[in-house]
Amino acid sequence: MKQFSQSEVVRLLAEKGLPKFRADQVLQWMYQKGVFDYSQMTNLSKALREELAESFPLAPAEEIDKRISADGTRKYVLRYEDGACVETVAMPSTENSQKDRLSVCFSTQVGCAMACAFCATGQGGFTRNLSAGEMVEQILHAQKDIGERITNVVAMGQGEPFLNYDNTIEALRIINNKKFLGIGARHITVSTCGIIKGIDQFANEPEQFTLAISLHAARQEVRDKLMPHVASQPLPQLKKALERYIAKTNRRPSFEYLLMQGVNDSKQDLEALLAFCDGLLCHVNLLPLNEVPGSPLKPAAPQTVRLWTSTLGEHHIEATLRKSRGSDIAGACGQLKNTIWKNLS
Ligand code: SAH
Repeated sequence: MKQFSQSEVVRLLAEKGLPKFRADQVLQWMYQKGVFDYSQMTNLSKALREELAESFPLAPAEEIDKRISADGTRKYVLRYEDGACVETVAMPSTENSQKDRLSVCFSTQVGCAMACAFCATGQGGFTRNLSAGEMVEQILHAQKDIGERITNVVAMGQGEPFLNYDNTIEALRIINNKKFLGIGARHITVSTCGIIKGIDQFANEPEQFTLAISLHAARQEVRDKLMPHVASQPLPQLKKALERYIAKTNRRPSFEYLLMQGVNDSKQDLEALLAFCDGLLCHVNLLPLNEVPGSPLKPAAPQTVRLWTSTLGEHHIEATLRKSRGSDIAGACGQLKNTIWKNLS
């Protein structure tokens, strides 16, 4: 579905002299019902269906692998028409209080250019951006497979969403649109490694989407080692961008912090994090490191994690210790690497 984002469908049909409501019908089949086959679009005439199939073939992504974790997490490897593959992860909630929650983590790029030391995706380098249609398709794919409505989405799969800003925002709008997936803006989260221009743009979007920042270190020299490609966007500038974001939107961003033994888990690191959070409306998610083959990085000791959680709490900084999901199927954060595809090629 490479070339079929919302604006493109409208434009393509207009070029054929078709009224906008026809584009809406086609879009609704695709983005509400997940139907990527014109022959099933029964409110269009047979002649129009044939013409559309001829002029604008849909070429939906193909599932080339699916794994189901012991905790119910499902990981899909989807292949697009040009052979590029991405991974998508669906996570049914396991907590009783959130039984109806079904979250999907989707990819925004094929591969990733950021080369973060702890993340498997970065090891393979960057291939290309995804179109909005290709992003939405991932969510619809999971929804169809599980047979239940997706309630939450996070742009936290492969890629850096703010380096593919326009397509990502267009995808979020389709996901949010009541005529399509209808997922509330607050249930839609974008995670960035800290692209300042993107944060400023995001602050100006009218929807109440949620922002997450992959922080992982509040000491510049540590962050530069872990996340070399955002070294040009230093922490004081990131903090200023977040202050602007909060002032403009009144919304609370969250920070992701992977605790890695001997790397970013010292007393000094904790103090730097407290200083970074000082005066910022924020929430800290402390995450266990998932294993990445070939990486020497190790998760922090349990007592360190406990110390960090309690110290943040004492400083009135809300902190949550996140559980990892799907690590037995290499479907957890930082493990998305298209293993199957690599083995096939
Ligand atoms: N480029 C965006 C979106 C990718 S999601 C961003 O950087 O935010 C990135 C998230 O995956 C990180 O914040 C981190 O929480 C998680 N992650 C990456 N590698 C990981 C690993 N080895 N173990 C656990 N989580 C990891």
